[in-house]
Amino acid sequence: MSLGAYIHIPFCNYKCHFCDFATSLALDELQDKYCSVLKNEIAKRLVNSPSKPQLGSIFYGGGTPGLLDAQNLYDIHQTLLANASLLPESEISLETTPETITVAKAKEWFSLGINRLSIGIESFNDYELKRVGRGHTSQQAVKAIKDAVKAGFTNISCDLMYGLPGQSLDIWQDSLNQFIKLAKQIPQITHISAYGLELNNNGPLARIFPQESGAYPSDETFVAQLNCLVKVLAEAGFEQYEISNFAKGDYRSKHNLNYWQDGEYHAFGVSAHRYIKPYRSSNWRILSRYLEDSLGDETCELIDSETQVKEAIMLGLRTTEGINLLQFEKAFAVNLALKHRDLIEDLIGCGVLRQEADNIRLTIAGQPIANTIIAKFF
Ligand code: SF4
Repeated sequence: MSLGAYIHIPFCNYKCHFCDFATSLALDELQDKYCSVLKNEIAKRLVNSPSKPQLGSIFYGGGTPGLLDAQNLYDIHQTLLANASLLPESEISLETTPETITVAKAKEWFSLGINRLSIGIESFNDYELKRVGRGHTSQQAVKAIKDAVKAGFTNISCDLMYGLPGQSLDIWQDSLNQFIKLAKQIPQITHISAYGLELNNNGPLARIFPQESGAYPSDETFVAQLNCLVKVLAEAGFEQYEISNFAKGDYRSKHNLNYWQDGEYHAFGVSAHRYIKPYRSSNWRILSRYLEDSLGDETCELIDSETQVKEAIMLGLRTTEGINLLQFEKAFAVNLALKHRDLIEDLIGCGVLRQEADNIRLTIAGQPIANTIIAKFF
């Protein structure tokens, strides 16, 4: 199991209506100060590590890390590399939005060592993009991918969203078809993350389109959208390896796999969550608080063996490999098949869980209700 590092860059050019991440529009005022605090946090936390961390993955997420000045990004990256070493073939990802990508900017990222771009495209329907507050068009998304390729990137992941207000199955299929057409022309598109909308009832999207407004796809349409996604991507050579993630060949995200396989990861920046056993902890979510106290915890939880078992069930069932019952028992001294025999039989009977030899995994019918199924094990 390798060690990951997550660096949160909160700045965005706009606030998307569905977004629940810690973001800030104050790039011009706060960029330099934030980067200076962040570098200090990275150095101080890593200096306190018992040994120099060896990283298998680094993820610059946000926010929109692509908005940072090249010098600031360089300085942050160098601070990290001065205090940790990189394993061979480490995955170094940067998340950004289409309108921030130019060939020149992407070349700077590439020369820094970033070897994977994660681009938030969300939809190929311009009306839909506007409806959810995105600040780019589908044409800009296509150009961004082509510019990233021109700059040298060979590992590009695209984000899409379904379950959006006003998104019929046809509109979703059309977005997917446009993505597939592009992916066939551009083999450097190796990965897709496709998320079903989880509506935050206190967020702007719920204020514009309340849950009961009838704007959202029905449960049946939502399930049909997921089914369509899995089918269309499989036909195009993208294998599903987690409910929301699909990859060609060996291009599964190392950083995300580390999360799902109970790996440890450092985390830096406002609201960043880390897992260095046996503690999970997170930084302050409010930016001003983080800037004053970058080493302070907003949350800190000791992960005891009971919590570990719960997390292993939750993470395992989200992956398409599912849970290997024998390995699970070996790792946690819990015989799941025995402990949850009736539940497992019920779920298999309902067609939402499948058992093959010693593995249990969600079926395609179980995936849209993964959280409900997982909760039954607790
Ligand atoms: S660009 Fe990304 S991080 Fe920024 S507001 Fe939109 S969804 Fe959130």
